[in-house]
Amino acid sequence: MKNISILGSTGSIGTQTLEVIRDNPDLFNVIAISGNNNLDLLLKQIEEFKPKYVAVYDEEKAKILRNNVSDFNVKVLCGIEGLIEISVIDEVDILLTSVVGNIGLMPTLNAIKAKKTIALANKETLVTAGELVMKEAEMNGVKIVPVDSEHSAIFQCMQGYNIKEVNKVILTASGGPFRGLARQKLKDVKPKDALKHPNWSMGRKISIDSATLMNKGLEVIEAKWLFDLKKEQIDVIVHPQSIIHSMVEFIDGSILAQLGVPDMKLPIQYALTYPSRVTSNSEGMSFEKFNELTFEKPDRITFPCLDLAFEALDIGGTMPSVLNAANEELVLQFLDGKINFYDIPDRIEKAMNKFKVIKNPDIDDIIEADKITREYIHKFF
Ligand code: MG
Repeated sequence: MKNISILGSTGSIGTQTLEVIRDNPDLFNVIAISGNNNLDLLLKQIEEFKPKYVAVYDEEKAKILRNNVSDFNVKVLCGIEGLIEISVIDEVDILLTSVVGNIGLMPTLNAIKAKKTIALANKETLVTAGELVMKEAEMNGVKIVPVDSEHSAIFQCMQGYNIKEVNKVILTASGGPFRGLARQKLKDVKPKDALKHPNWSMGRKISIDSATLMNKGLEVIEAKWLFDLKKEQIDVIVHPQSIIHSMVEFIDGSILAQLGVPDMKLPIQYALTYPSRVTSNSEGMSFEKFNELTFEKPDRITFPCLDLAFEALDIGGTMPSVLNAANEELVLQFLDGKINFYDIPDRIEKAMNKFKVIKNPDIDDIIEADKITREYIHKFF
């Protein structure tokens, strides 16, 4: 029986994680969950999974929840302290971190120090602080198991191999809802168009990132840190069917791929059961149904965010934090209808040109870079 703590249990990955746990009651036990805006769902999750701890970031909301859970034996925590507390609980084996944004960073670092296995679904952790986090994990002998489908695929393909035997990794991208459209056509797209992802059901922020290809860019940076790769060892190929979740090319030229229907519950379950596998309720892959797998080059002119991410990776230091913070703020502005689709890459690039890079940043440098970038983005108004 593995004891699990979930950061972000009401989001897309969080709810699917609870579905996996519901399907495997003999394998997993939920010790703690956290959410922020969706108190109704959090309450339902408390009723069903009976965690000992719940963290709600907002203090007022934590109070409201506290008043509603007096029938349950659950402690309601709040603030970043609450998120950290549920990440380091003694009896927890695995911290699954699926919060959106850089709020996941401090709890994850603390969990690593407490020697918890990390099931990582929060992109910003490795994008902004990859070097720090991986060093800390190595020092503490902690395994970081990726939940994201691409990294899970690479992780699975690499089992039993030495990183020295890897020539490169090939991240697959669906291309998002705007694949094949020219730049001119995308100038006036609306959030609702960008939110229609062809294959995956995802949260709002990541859906926009998928439409701009920034999602793939962030995954490129994550892959660098997770698998200790050089920039030249990371390729991106558009694969619209999302059946191959990513591939690894070895030094002998052989390529291993991991395939499956697009269902996040598979990589979530693998992250929780790793290094074992257990049966799942997944639909299973039918080659008769998915009888055509195609590949194309990403359109770097129409989707400049991909190259911005490669550039941030190349520059290193605090630059990925600048890229990430600018993107996060701009995606929110786009979702609110305040800016156009191409304001996202244009303003990210401006932010990247604006700030001096700090090499080998510590955690304070990373947090500061994040803060000043957000302030800079807000000044456009
Ligand atoms: Mg992904």
